[in-house]
Amino acid sequence: MSPLVGVLALQGASGEHADALRKLGARAQEVRIPKDLASIDAIILPGGESTTISMLLESSETFEPLSELLAQGLPAFGTCAGMIMLSNEVLDGRSDQRSFNRIDISVRRNAFGRQIASFEKEIDVLGLEDPFPAVFIRAPGVEVAGPAVEVLATVELDKGNEIPVLCRQNNVLVSSFHPELTNDLRLHQMFLNEV
Ligand code: GLN
Repeated sequence: MSPLVGVLALQGASGEHADALRKLGARAQEVRIPKDLASIDAIILPGGESTTISMLLESSETFEPLSELLAQGLPAFGTCAGMIMLSNEVLDGRSDQRSFNRIDISVRRNAFGRQIASFEKEIDVLGLEDPFPAVFIRAPGVEVAGPAVEVLATVELDKGNEIPVLCRQNNVLVSSFHPELTNDLRLHQMFLNEV
C-alpha cells in the first residue's frame, strides 16, 4: 500500500503539501489532533508561523504524542516554519516556543529580513540534475549545522556568506523555502524515498 503521510494542518500551507503527495502516489492525512497521528508513516510540517504552530500543538495536546513518534524515528519533512519546528535550537524565537530537536541545526527566524525579504531563486540541490525553484517567505536561516547534518543546498545571505537552506539528517529533511508552492515535486519525491 502507498505510504500514509501526515500533514500538520493547524496553521499554514497544508493543502499544497497534500496535493504534492497525492500527485506522487502517496496518501495524505491532515493532522490536527492526536488521533490523526494513528497510522501515519511520515509527517510534513508546513510553513506558517512557528510561534503559532508551537502554541496550537500544545493546546491541541498534539505536541507530546508527535514528539514521541519523531523520537522513535518517524520520517519528517519541515518547510520554513516546519524547519524551525524540527530544529535543535531556535534563535530570535519567542521564549515559550518549542521545537522537536530532530535535526542538529541552529535556526534564526526571519534570517533574510522581516517583511521585504520574500524572494524566489533557482538553487542548485545536491542530488538533483537541474536547479530547483525555491520560494522564500520570511524564511529562517541555518546559522550552525552539526557534523551529522548533510547540507544539500545553500544561498548567499550577504556578500560571501552562503548559508544552508536545505538540510538532511537521516530521515529528517528541512528546507528554509516552500517547495509546495511550485509545481516541482522533486523534493517531495526525495522525502518519500526515505519513507
Ligand atoms: N517567519 C516564520 C516563522 O517563524 C516562518 C515563515 C514561513 O513559514 N513562511 O516562524
